[in-house]
Amino acid sequence: SNIVAIVGRPNVGKSTLFNRMIQRREAIVDSVAGVTRDRNYGKSEWNGREFSVIDTGGYVRGSDDVFEAEIRKQVELAIDEADVILFVVDVEEGITPMDEEVAKLLRKVTKPVLLGVNKVDNAMREKDAVEFYNLGLGEYVTFASTSGSGTGELLDALIDIFPETPEPTQEETPLPRFAVVGRPNAGKSSFINALIGQDRFVVTDIAGTTRDAIDTKFNRFGFEFNLVDTAGIRRKAKVKEDLEFYSVMRSVRAIEHADVCILMVDATRGFEGQDQNIFWLAEKNRKGVVVLVNKWDLVEKDTMSARDYEKKIRKELEPFTDVPIVFVSALTKQRLLKALEAAVKVHENRKQRISTSKFNEHMLKVIESYPPPALKGKYVKIKYCMQLPTETPQFVFFANLPQYVKDPYKRFLENKIRENWDFEGVPIDIYIREK
Ligand code: GDP
Repeated sequence: SNIVAIVGRPNVGKSTLFNRMIQRREAIVDSVAGVTRDRNYGKSEWNGREFSVIDTGGYVRGSDDVFEAEIRKQVELAIDEADVILFVVDVEEGITPMDEEVAKLLRKVTKPVLLGVNKVDNAMREKDAVEFYNLGLGEYVTFASTSGSGTGELLDALIDIFPETPEPTQEETPLPRFAVVGRPNAGKSSFINALIGQDRFVVTDIAGTTRDAIDTKFNRFGFEFNLVDTAGIRRKAKVKEDLEFYSVMRSVRAIEHADVCILMVDATRGFEGQDQNIFWLAEKNRKGVVVLVNKWDLVEKDTMSARDYEKKIRKELEPFTDVPIVFVSALTKQRLLKALEAAVKVHENRKQRISTSKFNEHMLKVIESYPPPALKGKYVKIKYCMQLPTETPQFVFFANLPQYVKDPYKRFLENKIRENWDFEGVPIDIYIREK
C-alpha cells in the first residue's frame, strides 16, 4: 500500500491530523493489547484505499525550538521514503520562512505533493488561505484538524494523487520477498554482505514495483528469494546515519514491500524499544517475522546461554511469541543457512491453506470440548469455520451470537490453530461472524 508522510514545521497540527487519519482504522484493527504503540506510524483507510501514514513531526526532539536543519533533513527523508507527501501549513501563522524552505524542497520532487492548510474554520480564514498559492505548489485543500471539518475532502484529494500501484510483475511463482530490518548497527549490511560474499549466483538488482525499493534476487544454499531494498541498507551503512527516524522510515518502506521480515537484533545490546517498534510494525502489517540475534560471537556463553537469551526475547515479543529466533553471527558466518531456512519456512507457513473440511474437523472438536463461555444465560454456538482465501492467514468462525465471543476466546482459538498447524512467525487474524 502507499506510504503518506506528513511534513511541516512544528505546531501546525500535524499530529492532530495524524491521529484523525488513523483513528477510524485503529478502532477497526484494535490490535493486541500490551504492545507499545508507535504513535508516529499508523494504518489508515479511506474509501476502501488502505495506506500507511507517518507523522514526521513526531520525531523532532524538543519541538519548540527545532533546528531548521533537522526539519529539512526530515523532509528530505520523507521525500526519499514516502509515496505521497502531505505538507501541512497553518493559516493563522501564514507563510513562515520555514514553510518556504520546505516548499522549496517539495517543488523539486517528482512525487505527488498535497498542500493542506490547517485551522481554516470560517469564511474569513478561507480567504486568508489564498496566500498559500505563493508557495508555488499549486492547488491546496483547507481543513481544520481539531474540529475535523474538511478532513474528508483532504483525504479525497490525497487518494486522488496516489500513484497507481502497478501489478506485481508476474513471474510463474513470485519469489519470496525478504526484508532485513533492524536498528542501525545491528549488522544488517554485514548479514547481506555475508550472503553476497560467498554467492556466485547473485543475479541482478531488479527494479521493484515501486521506484525506490530495489530488490536483489538471490540464489543461496539452493533457495531463491528477493531481498527488498538492499541498496538502501548498504547505502545507509556508508552514511552512518543514526537518526532514529531514518531507521523507522527505512523499515516501514522495507516491511511494506516484504513477505517476511528478518529482524536483526544486536546481541550485545539486547532487545530494545526500537526493536520492539520494528517488530510491531511487521506484525501490524501482517508480515512474517524471523528474529536473528546477531553478533552472537561476542556473547560470553557462560554468562548467558542461548536458551536464557531466547526466553528473555520471547517475553518482549508477547503476545505474539510464536516466532523463530535464530542466533547468528554475520561476522563469523555462523548459522546463516539456518537463518535463511527459517525465513523460507515462515514464508511457506504464511502461504499455507488449510482445507475447510480438515479445519472444521479439528476445530469443531476443540470448540465442542471447550465452548465459548455463556454470557447472560445465553449459549454461543459455533457450527462452522474456515480459512479465508486471503493473502495472509485469516480464519472466520460463524456463531449465533458473535458479539459474545470475546478476545480471550479468540486467543484460545488462535493458540489451538497454532498447536495443530505450523504458523510459526506468521500473524493470524480471527474473525467471528454471524452465521
Ligand atoms: P547495519 O547498520 O545494521 O547495517 O550494521 P553493520 O552491518 O554496518 O554492522 C555494524 C557493526 O557491527 C560493524 O562494525 C560490523 O562489523 C559489526 N558486526 C556486524 N555483525 C557482526 C557479528 O556478527 N559479530 C561481530 N562481532 N560484529 C558484527
